[in-house]
Amino acid sequence: MVSGRTKVLCVIGSPIAHSLSPLIQNAAIRAAGLDYVYIALPVRPQALRSAVRGLCDAGICGFNVTIPFKTAILDLMDVLDEDARRIRAVNTVVVEPDGTLVGYNTDVCGFLAALIKRSIVLNGKQVVLLGAGGAARAALWGVLKQGAKKVSIGVRNPMKGMLLCEDFAADGDIQAFHFSDAVFSERLHAADLIIQTTPMGMAPHIQEMPPIDWSVVNPKAVAYDLIYTPMKTRFLREAEQHGLSVVNGEDMLIAQGAEAFYLWTGVRPDVEVMTHTLREELRRRG
Ligand code: NAP
Repeated sequence: MVSGRTKVLCVIGSPIAHSLSPLIQNAAIRAAGLDYVYIALPVRPQALRSAVRGLCDAGICGFNVTIPFKTAILDLMDVLDEDARRIRAVNTVVVEPDGTLVGYNTDVCGFLAALIKRSIVLNGKQVVLLGAGGAARAALWGVLKQGAKKVSIGVRNPMKGMLLCEDFAADGDIQAFHFSDAVFSERLHAADLIIQTTPMGMAPHIQEMPPIDWSVVNPKAVAYDLIYTPMKTRFLREAEQHGLSVVNGEDMLIAQGAEAFYLWTGVRPDVEVMTHTLREELRRRG
């Protein structure tokens, strides 16, 4: 029960009403028997600074950050952990007792958790990333940290792909290609892991997917789509038809939330409870 002693956590974003985080985090809080509550707060884009100051002045102990603030909030942090610094985005803030704001990015750890859970080793492997947006940055840094040998990024806009490559040029062998480039086709052929990071195929646009020539793809490769609605995108369905094993975005969503929970509370949450809550809610929303 919420009382005067209850510690408050939240997610800030705009819009925020659709966020699944309050349901998932409160389920984890109840399961752990902790005296916390997690709420969603809509913050006007121009009011980020004053909102963060107000939250801290009111004694909040931590919060998540989502669209459109993941990059803008960097300037308000006193300390950044390595993942947040490298991908230049924060999704989790811990407010230390002395008011210090520490920015983390748990998407990297969430992204990797789905692979680790399946014992998929990246050291020395070839990876193809589809897309070069925010989620691609987290995935790229994640695969580089795990020792991927070569990363090829397929994009519709090669300039954006090149900028992403430049940011991580010192960390590995990374190149960007237009989806239609013949060399990209060769990279697809050699890939051990193909990661779909665009919103193509996300509900309600479930017929969309990036242009992939499955005939060149190694059926022993793994296809990982960061989308979790629907659970199996067209990209994953077609990958499965071609013999690939598939991973969807559910574990990433849960694991990034679980890591944030741990950073705030020092307690490892029950991820089964979080996953069950997510699935129930997605079923309810249809
Ligand atoms: P974003 O920053 O907007 O990036 C989207 C990327 O996809 C950009 O590179 C964009 O290309 C590309 N793209 C979009 N539409 C395209 C199209 N029709 N054809 C080719 N490329 C297209 O978005 P994001 O934040 O990275 O999110 C991407 C997806 O990841 C979303 O579906 C999101 O739900 C999912 N995600 C999942 C999790 C999780 O926990 N499972 C976490 C984060 C994100 P341009 O650069 O040319 O615009």
